[in-house]
Amino acid sequence: MKKTKRILGILLLLIIIGATTTYFYYSSHKIENKEVKNTMKEEHPSKTLEVAKETPDYQEKYKNAYQEITYQEEKEFIKHINTLLDLQYNPEEINKIYAYLKEENILKLLNLNKINIDPYYQIKNFEVDKIKEYEEYQEKYKTTLEDAVLKVNIGLNQDFYTNIKDIENKNEYTVLVNKYHSLGDYTPTDLKSLSYDSKYQLREKAADAFEKLISAAKLENVFIRPYSAYRSYTYQTGLYDRYVKRDGKLKADTYSARPGHSEHQTGLAVDVWTEGKQEITKKDAEWLKQNAHKYGFIIRYTEENQNITGYIAEPWHLRYLGIDIASDVTEKKITYDEYYDLYIK
Ligand SMILES: [Zn+2]
Repeated sequence: MKKTKRILGILLLLIIIGATTTYFYYSSHKIENKEVKNTMKEEHPSKTLEVAKETPDYQEKYKNAYQEITYQEEKEFIKHINTLLDLQYNPEEINKIYAYLKEENILKLLNLNKINIDPYYQIKNFEVDKIKEYEEYQEKYKTTLEDAVLKVNIGLNQDFYTNIKDIENKNEYTVLVNKYHSLGDYTPTDLKSLSYDSKYQLREKAADAFEKLISAAKLENVFIRPYSAYRSYTYQTGLYDRYVKRDGKLKADTYSARPGHSEHQTGLAVDVWTEGKQEITKKDAEWLKQNAHKYGFIIRYTEENQNITGYIAEPWHLRYLGIDIASDVTEKKITYDEYYDLYIK
């Protein structure tokens, strides 16, 4: 007993000695480092200051600021930081701007009055020129800034089919088509007929993936068939017009895309029915929900996301994205509109 106590005592003593030594060692070093740094500063100009001095843009009044700003390999860097300094951003803010903002955002920043970007540094999908819209949206819907950024970026602060943009990457498998993005009269060039019936076509990779999905489903006693795949701009025009005549524009817009805005025009979307029926059964829809991503497809329009997509739930509408992206979208449980803004664009 006595022996144990003695050992414990010695151990405690050793710990105290160790901790004290470490403390004094580091605190003395800290002072040393600080002194070294201070002398360095006077003798050694920062890279930014050095570079600035060699350009015609050098401004003596910003000498101290140049010293504090971390150098960036960027064309016209000195010119740009001069502008930021003119706009009253301090060196600390400028360092943050370069650490967190995308280049296109920095360039936009140069043409605006000073903004408080502090709340935005951690929101990677924010766009400098939309800050006013984000704030308005946040105020109106009492939501988080992250949510406001996402919704405004999608276009949801304005009515569907307003502020429509022409899609640039129409031929990419990741293309985003919705009520704010139009394909115009685009036609894919690699359409391939589906084995079920040659009148149904998808782009090559999507067609191959769809065949695999159909076969895999069969093995689990799920029998589905395509009933609509690629649709041309002209075909969609006829379809939409017929629906408008039948139900009126307001209602038709909830289930049918206007020409140029249908995913079916990409050749990457296919609607499926249960074999022998003119609908998809609940059981088969559930199988698709659980398994479609394994073959590269997502259920594009769900019950929960009508406010974002602008469409009623369509458990029969599959959109091809490839296995990796389809799996990621499914796992994250978000719409492709959101996913595109956060991870693709
Ligand atoms: Zn569809």
